[in-house]
Amino acid sequence: MSKLKNPDNSSWPSNLHPSDIDDEQQKLEWREKFAISDADAGIEVTENFERFNQINDMFTRAFWDENVRSGKSDAFFKGHRVAANPRKAQGFQQRDLALRNAGWSVSGMISERRKEEGIREGFQALIDEGGPVADNKFVIDDLKKHTDDVEKIAKLFGADLFGVAGLDTRWHYSKRVDTRDFSAVENDFPEEMAVEDTNVIVMGHAMDHDLVATYPSALAGAATGIEYSHEAAIVVQLVTYIRNLGYNAFGSMNDTALVIPYAVKAGLGEYGRNQMVITSEFGPRVRFSKIFTDMPLDHSRPSLRGIREFCDICSKCADSCPPKALPYGPPLDEVRNVSTITGVKKWSADCEKCFGYWAAMGTDCAICMRVCPFNRVYDSWLDNLFRRLAYSRLRKLALWWDGKTDRAKRVKPNAWWQS
Ligand code: SF4
Ligand code: SF4
Repeated sequence: MSKLKNPDNSSWPSNLHPSDIDDEQQKLEWREKFAISDADAGIEVTENFERFNQINDMFTRAFWDENVRSGKSDAFFKGHRVAANPRKAQGFQQRDLALRNAGWSVSGMISERRKEEGIREGFQALIDEGGPVADNKFVIDDLKKHTDDVEKIAKLFGADLFGVAGLDTRWHYSKRVDTRDFSAVENDFPEEMAVEDTNVIVMGHAMDHDLVATYPSALAGAATGIEYSHEAAIVVQLVTYIRNLGYNAFGSMNDTALVIPYAVKAGLGEYGRNQMVITSEFGPRVRFSKIFTDMPLDHSRPSLRGIREFCDICSKCADSCPPKALPYGPPLDEVRNVSTITGVKKWSADCEKCFGYWAAMGTDCAICMRVCPFNRVYDSWLDNLFRRLAYSRLRKLALWWDGKTDRAKRVKPNAWWQS
């Protein structure tokens, strides 16, 4: 197997290439501009902050970094296209792999179609779809009513959660990736839109509860793939709708900018120890997409209900993580390796350990999602009572009660097939 090495960064001492270091004046402006909205959202940015270069995310490093890339990581990606290596273990048999790969298929069509140009839409570049922008601009008389209408359309297309945040370029990758040679290239903002006019629609896509209950397994990976495919379809549909109203819009999944801070600022949930946004509606069982648009929209408010306080007394995700990749203790501004963003005080996983476990299993893991006490369907009075207690000063009682149930227990994959 040939080992690719990024030509730009073979000797970087940290996750920062000298050309990525953000200008001090720019950082000062960011601190002043976002101090109040960060505090409202529970986001703590320190003086060490630097934007994140996407070539350092684990899924990109798995192609160019010889410390991460291995025969197992290559097989991990290849195995998501064809169910080549079914195993005897339940959850990893041919029908499990087939279902997972079928779940990913639509997302794969979008992300593969421009690979000859080094563009992997939805993961390492914006999704360039949605047709032309109409000449006539739809007149918006009532901003709140108009935003409610757009939410209604997003949910008609299949989104489960909807919010709007202002553009915050701190979370945009300092560089994106040319996937032909895994070099770092400019992460240019679409020139059609003025930065000051741009809003960010954030949508949440709930993963199937019963599939998630079977993590770790390839079968459970279907819950992830299915939502990526839903996301791809929904952002293209909503972008098309907005462009037909006469405004610019660009769809995005994991590409272009970190979605977690946008989801928190758009009021969709709060950041947890397990590195996920924990929502009131689905707990951590949600994936997020975004749309950048110059269509005027009413901004949502962050909604802090007490996840930080709950995670302070809980460590179920960290306790259950097989490679011990999740942290204990309070949030820290701590760079665990080059895949950690610099200068944000938060719980940060050791992504190398986490991805190493995924590669060894040949599929993704979300045990830390499954075991989280907020991972519930919320269709019973008991789940709703848990949530009320968890958001109150009785959170220790809620945690104790959760531990007395078998809610977090893994469901055997064959039981899922038989159900
Ligand atoms: S996904 Fe799995 S390996 Fe990664 S942090 Fe969560 S439990 Fe640990
Ligand atoms: S398992 Fe506990 S500590 Fe981990 S994210 Fe969920 S509530 Fe927070």
